[in-house]
Amino acid sequence: MDNMPSWMDTKLGGMKRVALWLIQVIGLGNTFTKNQLREAFPEVAQIDRRLRDLRDFDWKIHTNREDVGLGTHEQRLVEVGQPVWVPGKATRRAAVTVTAAQRHEALMRDGHKCRSCGIGPGEAYVGTDVTSQLDVARRDVLLPDGTTKTQLVIECNRCRIGNRELVANLGRLLGRINKLPAIEKKILSAWVAEDRRGFSEIEDIWAGYRTLPAESRVHVRDALA
Ligand SMILES: [Zn+2]
Repeated sequence: MDNMPSWMDTKLGGMKRVALWLIQVIGLGNTFTKNQLREAFPEVAQIDRRLRDLRDFDWKIHTNREDVGLGTHEQRLVEVGQPVWVPGKATRRAAVTVTAAQRHEALMRDGHKCRSCGIGPGEAYVGTDVTSQLDVARRDVLLPDGTTKTQLVIECNRCRIGNRELVANLGRLLGRINKLPAIEKKILSAWVAEDRRGFSEIEDIWAGYRTLPAESRVHVRDALA
C-alpha cells in the first residue's frame, strides 16, 4: 500500500475516499457510525451507498445483522479488500446493471420460469386476464459465512413487487436441511434434482379430494372413518 493517497483528496471518487477514510481514520477492527461517515463526507451524496459498494471489492464491513454485538447505527471494518484507489482496481466485477448476456444466462438457468411462483413468460395468472412478464431480479443472499452476496434470479413482475425487500438466508436454509430426517432429505434431494416438486400418493389423493363436490366428499370422509 505504497503511495496511498489521502482520504481528503477530493479528486478521488466517493468510494475510493471512503475506503481510504476507513483505513486512515477508523482503522481495521474498529467501529464507526453513520453519523461519523456523513460528517466526514458532507459533500458526497449517498456516501452510505459508496460504503456498501466496497463489498463488491472484498471489503468486509459488518452491521448488526452480521454481528449482534454492534448497535443499530454501528458498523465495523472487519477486512480491508481491494485497494480501490489504485488505478484499475475499482473495476467492478459484478456490474450494477444486468447485461443482456447475464439476463439470458439467468433465464436459461432458471428454466424461463418465475422462481417464486413458477409462471412462464406471458402466461395468465390463475383467475385473471393479467399476463406475466419475466425479468431478472437481484436477490441479496445472506451466506453462511455472514457475508451478503447479490445473486440473480428470474421473477415475474407480480412476485417481484412482493420480494423486493427479501433477503434470502442460505445459512438458515442449509441448517434446516441438516436437521431433516434422512428420508425427507432424500425426498427433497429428488425435488432438487428435478427442479420441481413431485407429489406423493397421499398428496395426489388430497388434490383429487379437494376438487370433489360436497356429496362425494362425504363418501371419502366415510371411507376414512
Ligand atoms: Zn411469480
